[in-house]
Amino acid sequence: MKQKKSIHPFAYDLEEDDLKRERRRARELRETQWWKRRQSKGICHYCRRPTSPKDITMDHIVPISRGGKSTRGNVVPCCKECNNAKKQLLPMEWEAYLKKFNSDIS
Ligand SMILES: [Zn+2]
Repeated sequence: MKQKKSIHPFAYDLEEDDLKRERRRARELRETQWWKRRQSKGICHYCRRPTSPKDITMDHIVPISRGGKSTRGNVVPCCKECNNAKKQLLPMEWEAYLKKFNSDIS
């Protein structure tokens, strides 16, 4: 019988260093042409509303505090309104908020 290895017994306990590293990577990502192109399009990933590029913020789909990474697959352009809503709403409320916009995208 194989012994079960517990390599990461505290996988969900993020170390302060991990948080710092991902925040630093997010800053670096903001400086890339890739991000600047997305930002200059001025479309919020969530509500799809045209937004002034200066009001576009970088949002982590999975927040860093929940183990999300600062990678291209996990960051999206986001308007201030959605950014605030995402911070303040419970996950269920946030889903309801998104449904308002997704109904015509399908
Ligand atoms: Zn938005």
